[in-house]
Amino acid sequence: MANNKILLCLAHMSGQEMKYIQEAFDTNWVVPLGPNVNAFEEDLEQLCGEDKRVVALSSGTAAIHLALVNLGVTRGDEVICQSMTFSASANPVVYQGATPVFVDSERDSWNIDPNLLEEAIKDRIAKTGKKPKAIIPVYLYGMPARIDDIMEIARRYEIPVIEDSAEAFGSCYRGQLCGTFGEFGIMSFNGNKMITTSGGGALICPDEAAKKKTMFYATQSREPMPYYLHKEIGYNYRMSNICAGIGRGQMTILDEHLAHHKHLCDRYVELLGDVDGITVHTNPDDRCDSNYWLNTIIIDPKKTGTDYETVRLHLDACNIESRPLWKPMHTQPVFSGAPSYVNGVSEDLFTMGLCLPSGPWVSDEDVERVAREIIACCKH
Ligand SMILES: *Cc1c(COP(=O)(O)O)cnc(C)c1O
Repeated sequence: MANNKILLCLAHMSGQEMKYIQEAFDTNWVVPLGPNVNAFEEDLEQLCGEDKRVVALSSGTAAIHLALVNLGVTRGDEVICQSMTFSASANPVVYQGATPVFVDSERDSWNIDPNLLEEAIKDRIAKTGKKPKAIIPVYLYGMPARIDDIMEIARRYEIPVIEDSAEAFGSCYRGQLCGTFGEFGIMSFNGNKMITTSGGGALICPDEAAKKKTMFYATQSREPMPYYLHKEIGYNYRMSNICAGIGRGQMTILDEHLAHHKHLCDRYVELLGDVDGITVHTNPDDRCDSNYWLNTIIIDPKKTGTDYETVRLHLDACNIESRPLWKPMHTQPVFSGAPSYVNGVSEDLFTMGLCLPSGPWVSDEDVERVAREIIACCKH
């Protein structure tokens, strides 16, 4: 078909998923725990290495929330969060009654700027007399953040790091999996992410004790008694055994998905790399190994004579889905009261960037069509 709809990132099954789901039905494990959950967590722990423990949860948002609960974040606390991100990075801070403090990005990775991060920490200590309770860096579109620099600062000020690697499943920095550097890391298996469980997430924990505590919070904080005894507030955040079955099936094609996303990046670079005013966002150096969950471009209006919204509307008319970059949290009405440390980078990116179709269903011919239509918008 010449004009089939090309979507950003659509779920893609390996064919193994139904086997695990059938097993769950055959053994009547249709509950938020069971053999698929345990096996999926083992798969994820193997992927993480670094002696990490993983808890499968109902969403990536729930994982961030439980990381904050584990760290004792509560009313009156401040948590530093990358400003350029999806709102799910910051919402759980507010669930805990704490205040997000937004920090802008650096130009190479589009992720939290380590220099501005340190400035923000110093300024918060000066202004409030206490340290922020946690730092949430994000790996936007799969691109590794400057995690060595971030960890160095975090260690110096003794502030725990929660890596939001919802978009970076399979991305590495210096060969180490994103999400395994900080105290906690989070994964998302929503329908449009690198792999899916239809909806789901996971918390990467530093040790077995943190895993046990997380499972306790995720199952209503029930004390080990024959009757229902509760000493702490709990949550219903465990992953269902059916969803975990999908996850086990998805793990069998993770390598293929990663290879395909990276291949599409190469194709975009090939077709758009030489176009004046268009920059494909690629690994800034060889320490970074992005999964290229979504391939993204920057469109310079001066050089191209067009802009991201004109291109987006044109692509839409051509039956091609694209999407503006994340609108920075410090510009969101819902977070208007939050302190922010801004350098202009995220607002700049937001007014010039576009996410392009990148999923397992996108073919080489699709990329050619997308690139052709983008170039057609440029008035060189
Ligand atoms: C998707 C996403 C989340 C939340 O994950 P869910 O599983 O959808 O709750 C958090 N942070 C970022 C950056 C995301 O893209």
